[in-house]
Amino acid sequence: AAGPEPLLATDGLRKEFGGLTATDDVSLTVSPGERRCLIGPNGAGKSTLLSLLTGQLDPTAGSIRFAGEEIDGLAPHERVDRGLSVKFQVPSVYGAFSTRENLRLALQRRRSGDGLEEAIDESLARFDLVEEAEMDASALSHGQKQRLEIAIASALDPSLLLLDEPVAGLSVEETDRIVELLIDLNESRGIALLVIEHDMAFVRALAERVTVLHQGAILTEGEMESVANDPTVREVYLGE
Ligand code: ADP
Ligand code: MG
Repeated sequence: AAGPEPLLATDGLRKEFGGLTATDDVSLTVSPGERRCLIGPNGAGKSTLLSLLTGQLDPTAGSIRFAGEEIDGLAPHERVDRGLSVKFQVPSVYGAFSTRENLRLALQRRRSGDGLEEAIDESLARFDLVEEAEMDASALSHGQKQRLEIAIASALDPSLLLLDEPVAGLSVEETDRIVELLIDLNESRGIALLVIEHDMAFVRALAERVTVLHQGAILTEGEMESVANDPTVREVYLGE
C-alpha cells in the first residue's frame, strides 16, 4: 500500500571521485517526522551522501526530492530555506560572538524583531545554555558547542535536520543530553532527523530505523535490533 509521500527521497544517487565510487546508486527515503540513523564503517560514504543532500557536492547521477519537489541544482542555502537544515561534523559557530548572539543571528533569519528576544531565551532554555548565554562561543566546552550547533540548525525551522556525528568525542552524560534534546525536537516540533553516528548506544536510543551504508551502497535497512543481528552487517564491521 502506498504510504504518505516521503519527506526525502533520493533516486539512484551516485558520486564518483575519479575512479572511486563514494556513493553507489543510493535510493533512500525518509518519512516526515521520522528518526533515522545512518551507520557504516569508515569510508562507507556517509559524509559524502550528506554533502549530496545539502548541495555541498553535486551528484554524478541520480536525483533528490524533498518536500514534494526536486531539489537538484538548488544551492545549499536554498535547500535550507526549503526546510533541509544541517549540523556538520566540524563546528561552525562564531567563536568571537556570545552564545546569545549566535542564536540571534540564526533565529533572525526566520523571524522579524517581533518575538525575537523571547525566541532566543526559549532556545537558550531548551538547549540548557542559559548560564552560558553571555559567554563567547569559543569558550564553550565541546558538549556545549554541539548543543549550540543543534540550536542554530533547528532555529532555521527545518522539517528535516541532518547531523554528522553529533556526539563524537562527548562523554556519556553529554551524549545522553543530546539524545534527549533531539528526541524533544522530534516529538515537540515534528522535525525529522537523519543522523550519522558511530556510537551504537546513541543509535539504539535515538533511531526508529537504521540504514547501513557499505562501500557507498545501502547494505540493509530496518529496526536497530534486526540490523544489529544481520550477519552481513556483522561481517562488514568485523572486517573493518
Ligand atoms: P564516511 O563518512 O562514511 O567515513 P566518506 O563519505 O567521507 O565516508 O568517504 C567515502 C569515500 O570517498 C572514501 O573512500 C573517501 O576517501 C572518499 N572521498 C570522500 N571525499 C572525497 C573527495 N573530496 N575526493 C576524493 N575522495 C573522497
Ligand atoms: Mg564521515
